[in-house]
Amino acid sequence: MQHSITNVTVIGSGTMGNGICHVFAQKGYNVSMMDINQDALDRAMATINKNMDRQVTKGLITEEDKQQSIARITTYTDMATAVQNAHLVVEAATENVELKLNIFRDLDKHCPEGCILASNTSSISITKIASVTNRPEKVIGMHFMNPVPVMKLIEVINGYATSEDVTKTIHSLSENLGKVPCVANDYPGFIANRILLPMINEAIIALQEGVAGVAEIDTIMKLGMAHPMGPLQLADFIGLDTCLSILNVLHSGIGNPKYAPSTLLVNMVQAGKLGAKSGEGFYKYTKGSKELVVSAAFATKEWK
Ligand code: NAD
Repeated sequence: MQHSITNVTVIGSGTMGNGICHVFAQKGYNVSMMDINQDALDRAMATINKNMDRQVTKGLITEEDKQQSIARITTYTDMATAVQNAHLVVEAATENVELKLNIFRDLDKHCPEGCILASNTSSISITKIASVTNRPEKVIGMHFMNPVPVMKLIEVINGYATSEDVTKTIHSLSENLGKVPCVANDYPGFIANRILLPMINEAIIALQEGVAGVAEIDTIMKLGMAHPMGPLQLADFIGLDTCLSILNVLHSGIGNPKYAPSTLLVNMVQAGKLGAKSGEGFYKYTKGSKELVVSAAFATKEWK
């Protein structure tokens, strides 16, 4: 029997959390958005407002739709209050194993008995997350793509103990959100990142070996493979620290040296060059400018 879901709590209101709240609220769900940081909640509400304004300008929704959606979102800094009426929790906090295990221990304690616990983790084992709860059959991966309001895919990940009812519930809920769910089993990196990250890593290794420059690598992959964005620009967009942590999970979890992160990626993360969010990665980002400028660190050599 599928679960009935109208109240959704989202834990973490960063890049992914605010997008997840946006789509649930727009589809009529009551949304509780929880973060430990009030500033993050304020920024998230501002981002949701701005992104919905863009949808109004494009004629995708009306101003009234926007106001109704915003009114469905309530913000909290206290988890116990945020989850007290939840039918589903989607955790989208920072990608860190210990942090997520602690969150799921607390969720298990505070959530109503029948509540489904989903994680938006990019790479951490759903089975491991489920193991710290007393409801492993109700724990599942719900991996949204960035930017959430735009991207159609939800990678649904079955943990070892996830029940069929819960998978079916999340599958049809994802369709209600206007998304396309695809189910994968719980292996390091699941499907999306197991395939994407080795490609990004290989692009960085090619750059490190001097095979071609940043712009050339990205242009070859964009025009040659019809990718909307080159792998280095995509790495900047995802965040180089996030890319590194996913590669580390693939490398240690699968144990094959082909997943070892490139030295250049490790060095850039250590130097604080994290991509768009830090202002510099393979490209340099200036607030208010959409021009793609190769970072000075990679712009000196002529690639002919
Ligand atoms: P982010 O750094 O933008 O946001 C994380 C938020 O979690 C922050 O606002 C932080 O204050 C909050 N947080 C930290 N500890 C918390 C706690 N104990 N309780 C509540 N909130 C807490 O991160 P993000 O990019 O939104 O990533 C979130 C999750 O989504 C990660 O698991 C990540 O792997 C996954 N993910 C990210 C992307 C992406 O492209 N960024 C894509 C798919 C999945």
